[in-house]
Amino acid sequence: MPQCLNSWTDAAGAAQGKNVPTDPADPRLLGAVAIVLALLVAAIRRHRNRRMLRSLRQRGERLKMALWATGEHYWEYDVGSRVVRLLLVEPDAHGLSDVMHEREVPVEELIHPEDIAGVERAITDCIQGHTRSVVADARVLLDEGEPVWTRARGRVVRRSPQGAALRLAGTARDVSRSRQAERERRIAAQVLHSMDEAVSVVDANFNFISVNRAFTRITGYTAEETLGRSAALLDSDQHDAAFYRHMRATLQRQGQWKGEMWQRRKDGEEFLCRLVCSAVAGASPGEAQYVTVLSDVTREKRAEEELLYLANFDTLTNLPNRAMLSERLSRAIVRARRHGGRIGLLFLDLDRFKDVNDSLGHAAGDRILRAAARRLQQTLGAEHTVARLGGDEFTVVLEDLESAAQAERTAREIIMAFEAPLEIDGHQEIAISPSIGISLYPEHGQVPTELIKRADTAMYQAKAAGRRTFMRYDDAMDVATRTRATLSGALRKVLDRGELRLAYQPRMSLADSRITGVEALLRWSSDEHGEVAPADFIPLAEESGLILEIGEWVLREACLMLGRWQQHGLDPTLAVSINVSALQLQRGDFPQVVRQVLQDTGVAPGSLELELTESMLMANAGQTAARLQAFRDLGVPLAIDDFGTGYSSLAYLKRLPLSTVKIDKTFVDDVSTDPDDAAITSTIITMAHSLGLKVIAEGVETDAQVRFLASHGCDEIQGFWLAAPMDGHACLSFIRNWQPRPARAAAGAP
Ligand code: C2E
Ligand code: MG
Ligand code: MG
Repeated sequence: MPQCLNSWTDAAGAAQGKNVPTDPADPRLLGAVAIVLALLVAAIRRHRNRRMLRSLRQRGERLKMALWATGEHYWEYDVGSRVVRLLLVEPDAHGLSDVMHEREVPVEELIHPEDIAGVERAITDCIQGHTRSVVADARVLLDEGEPVWTRARGRVVRRSPQGAALRLAGTARDVSRSRQAERERRIAAQVLHSMDEAVSVVDANFNFISVNRAFTRITGYTAEETLGRSAALLDSDQHDAAFYRHMRATLQRQGQWKGEMWQRRKDGEEFLCRLVCSAVAGASPGEAQYVTVLSDVTREKRAEEELLYLANFDTLTNLPNRAMLSERLSRAIVRARRHGGRIGLLFLDLDRFKDVNDSLGHAAGDRILRAAARRLQQTLGAEHTVARLGGDEFTVVLEDLESAAQAERTAREIIMAFEAPLEIDGHQEIAISPSIGISLYPEHGQVPTELIKRADTAMYQAKAAGRRTFMRYDDAMDVATRTRATLSGALRKVLDRGELRLAYQPRMSLADSRITGVEALLRWSSDEHGEVAPADFIPLAEESGLILEIGEWVLREACLMLGRWQQHGLDPTLAVSINVSALQLQRGDFPQVVRQVLQDTGVAPGSLELELTESMLMANAGQTAARLQAFRDLGVPLAIDDFGTGYSSLAYLKRLPLSTVKIDKTFVDDVSTDPDDAAITSTIITMAHSLGLKVIAEGVETDAQVRFLASHGCDEIQGFWLAAPMDGHACLSFIRNWQPRPARAAAGAP
């Protein structure tokens, strides 16, 4: 018999043990009556007791059944001994009936150490009357098994006469499952709240039931503003009513809709979102609910578009890039093939852009490229594809070409359009010309790469032909290109093989017919290619950067030669000039290199002169001036070479620490025949003098030129009239044996 039922059985036992007193009047009769009565009373009592017992047993059974049915267990807690008595009802092995067993365990052993404090607090509160009942959740340890989360409820059931609580009793149940479920619910709620995606739940009428935090962040609507309102709140004008109808119908029919759509935020801004809307499982049709998970993909989409843009357009000029050009050209070829049409491809490269870029800096270079792109587009209009291939290379696709001549006309127009200087930053003007190569479909190629390659080849020929011009591709050009490639290869070995040497060309003062100096000119006698002209290999050396090494060799070689001449007793005022490339000037350490070479060779700084071309010095006067000043500080004079071929003005040159201007041969050539060239040359001389600059005329070949120059006050002349460039030995004897020529008399000194 379970202990907890003892109270009732105890009571029955006590009633059964008591005797009723008998009457003693007639001892026999009374004795008999008494016996009968006693038997009767006993029978009645037995009967009553049996009833009570049966009733008690029934109550116990009912309690057991109630406990079993509800999954509860019975407990009692003895306040004095702190022992818990448990009545555990568990199903038997077959799960059909139940077994009850009983335990007595000290409370500290029964409850998990981490939960004991909470349990004791609940008991104390109840004992002290702060609470009417005990409710406590705790892990219960039974039979060495895993602790089981249990919720106990109970109250005081026995008190001392003074009212102190002696015993508490109640029921307890296993709540591990519901606790787990609750925990999962809490986690789910937490996840929902911390999700980056907006989650909303709508009812069968598409009215909001709940939304999460991200929903508010993304749409701008708070939970209060949405609950009960229609999901149409977020509808965007970008979709028509039919779109939303279709979406809802799909959802109702298939239980899911996903895709990208535009929605509108509370502030009116439209945003693109990726959306998955699903019906909540298990709901009856009338109570359907839908969960929508929505992420804002506007940025992602924009990034995608940007990537697409980057892949197809040049960010500097916003023109299509090589990839886009290939695609457009391919399409144009397909169209042309279908209709028997022609396409012209112009390949355009800006002349001496590298020099400009090196001397003005890359930021200015970028602005020039942008301005050039604009100029090109303005000239060609929107109907032709203008693309930038990289660097200073542009291409133009001319579709529906009527004739080759039409492509050439367009090339000419582009060159003319570049006659006016480009304006960069609204104030600075830069003159830059393009060289253009032309290839034609179908004559020169069937695929984009072929057409581009051939137009490129033609462009190189245009450069070789003196720049600022165009050339149409022909097969002979490929040979020239191959030569160029092999030349570059050979050039790399030039210094090791000792294939370079210098030629010296003297110059003469017109005032006193004295040889004032020589210009050192580079010569390359290649084993494979024979004599290669500087105009052919110097651009290659500049492109590859080899010019730095070669330039230093020239500098040292020229100074060594001058030193030797001086040892041979040559006039110490005689100067040697060398040509300097933009790349050399660009290098910060060039002044140190010059100083070192002067020191090593013992040549006085005043006896060396550096010749720089106009394009190197163009614009950005501040930076160039600072760089040039380093040479002036060394005492090395600077000359501007080929003056008149670039676009610099004398006023601009005034800002640079120059000492000499060399008028280009192209002006000198026609001074005696072309009044324009004569006027230009005499103006240059006058203006240069007014700026304190010495003037040297280059490429002087005739007596007439000498006469003109002398009469206009030109200081010195250089050219075949005096002497062609020659090797050092020959030059030394030329200078030594120099006698003013009879023709000079005819020229007449000023
Ligand atoms: P540049 O500095 O203007 O040199 C003058 C060019 O004119 C030389 O051509 C010279 O031989 C040529 N010349 C001189 N007098 C006459 C004449 O009366 N008639 C004709 N028709 N030509 C004349 P070259 O030697 O072919 O040099 C061409 C250019 O190569 C030079 O022009 C210079 O810019 C460059 N160059 C030569 N040597 C070097 C060098 O060591 N370094 C660098 N960076 N460039 C050099
Ligand atoms: Mg020169
Ligand atoms: Mg020159």
